[in-house]
Amino acid sequence: MKNKKDKQQDKQQHKYIFVIGGVMSGVGKGIASSSIGKILQSKGFKVNPIKVDPYLNVDAGTMNPTEHGEVFVLDSGLETDQDMGNYERFLEMDLGPDDYMTSGMIYKYVIDKERNLGFRGKCVEAIPHITEEIVRRWEKSSAHHKSDISLIEIGGTIGDYQNALFIEAARTLKIKHPQDVAFIIVTYLPVPGSLGEMKTRPTQNAVRQLNSYGVQPDVIIARGSHPLDHKRKEKIAVSCAISPENVISAPDIESIYDVPLNFEKDKISQVLMKILHLENRTHNGELHEWKKFVQKRANAKKQLKIAVVGKYFDTGDYTLSDAYVSVIEAVKFSSYWKGANTKLTWINSKEYEKNPRKIAELKKYDGIIVPGGFGESGIEGVIKTIEYARKNKIPYLGLCYGMQLAVIEYARNVIGWKDAHTSEINPKSSHLVIDIMPEQKKNLEAGNYGATMRLGAYPAKLKEGSIARRSYGKKEISERHRHRYEVNGEYIKEIEKAGLVFSGTSPDGKLMEIAELPKSTHPFFLGTQFHPELKARPLHPHPLFTAFVEACLKNTKNNT
Ligand code: GLN
Repeated sequence: MKNKKDKQQDKQQHKYIFVIGGVMSGVGKGIASSSIGKILQSKGFKVNPIKVDPYLNVDAGTMNPTEHGEVFVLDSGLETDQDMGNYERFLEMDLGPDDYMTSGMIYKYVIDKERNLGFRGKCVEAIPHITEEIVRRWEKSSAHHKSDISLIEIGGTIGDYQNALFIEAARTLKIKHPQDVAFIIVTYLPVPGSLGEMKTRPTQNAVRQLNSYGVQPDVIIARGSHPLDHKRKEKIAVSCAISPENVISAPDIESIYDVPLNFEKDKISQVLMKILHLENRTHNGELHEWKKFVQKRANAKKQLKIAVVGKYFDTGDYTLSDAYVSVIEAVKFSSYWKGANTKLTWINSKEYEKNPRKIAELKKYDGIIVPGGFGESGIEGVIKTIEYARKNKIPYLGLCYGMQLAVIEYARNVIGWKDAHTSEINPKSSHLVIDIMPEQKKNLEAGNYGATMRLGAYPAKLKEGSIARRSYGKKEISERHRHRYEVNGEYIKEIEKAGLVFSGTSPDGKLMEIAELPKSTHPFFLGTQFHPELKARPLHPHPLFTAFVEACLKNTKNNT
């Protein structure tokens, strides 16, 4: 029996929860982890999430969004995996550079240290030097957040070669602190069409595979198209040596934001608190605000149709929504709070290049978004889209490239600089209204691409009386960036004289952060050099997205 003092000490120990995937990838490990974090927050614990990506890229910045999904930029400028966006959105936290790690980042650090004699002549090996570095980073992250619980998602699936060292690092922590470390495996239970029955065997195999690493899961999250019945819970429990209460049913549901509430149906927080020797720290108001949001979503009845016109849309439905997941979520949050259920339609701008008359279809949308992007393909189609939105007074929101291309459209069609362009595409244009920043030019010449864009949070000041200023309700903002090109300072006066307003600039006034048309000329036409979508949260929708959605709602009313 432990005495009171020992119990107290246990409680004060930092706790770790590791989330590992089994059976297959893509079953929502990130959402499961974010939801667990949300639930533990609601029990009064300070949680810090960490995402581990086992690939060798030093960060996610050099990866193609059509293959790997959105690059999520943190305040610090670190380019990370889209799961970090889910953590920030679910947990209402700004995450830092210690909260994300890749194998590449860790190896690079250890190898650089070795080159500098940092290991004092020792033979440097994956175990223990890489695993110790992994643990050092986990500890640094939790110390930074002064958290009670670190929630660490290990990317990939059990059985991959490349995540094995992270699992080994986690195992060493469990050996040292058996009371303070919990392992969760997220598996999948298929229902083969020919049988119509949910099969547990892949889960049993995944758990055995995890066992072969010396790790026994404490909790099994059983994903599947349907809820898990009692019989299967029992079966998994017996074959995986776990108690049936620790098998959590996680069926497909309508919205990812329902997952925390769904997990609680199986009392996951009680299960975890028992494993980690923790006691609930709050007794009222749990997930109160969250439930309000979930309710708003369920009750959103007004129908909105928004077209997203861009270029990364030609590799199938799944990839396209992954490449713009933060944009999608940002639209959802603002829509739900305004009582609207928005349907986004993805339009590949190349279609308007092939068939210019097709552009008239844009008439049926209540609003148009042009999201961020890089390079030449589909650009003329995007510029045509912006021209259409401007002339037909359809609410327009341009994000990064969407702002740069709006400036180009204005320069070409309103001012009359017919070849106006960005030096990203046509450096020979006689009106480079969007140009490369001088320090960026050096990077490109040196072939220095990784982490060299203008990245992360920068402040901006807003112009009195502008849509931006009114929407934010404050004079100064901080937003996240990811770009190499800028509005060219040489043309600002002339562009403004022609009616486009730069309503947000860097504090020294040199960099243009927001361009908009006055309300007297257009109901809502606004572009941002930064990515507001990265800071939209379910409980705090982004003011610019909300202003855009409001304008779209007014537009619908006019149409009907
Ligand atoms: N390609 C543009 C630039 O690099 C815009 C980037 C973006 O949309 N994120 O400046």
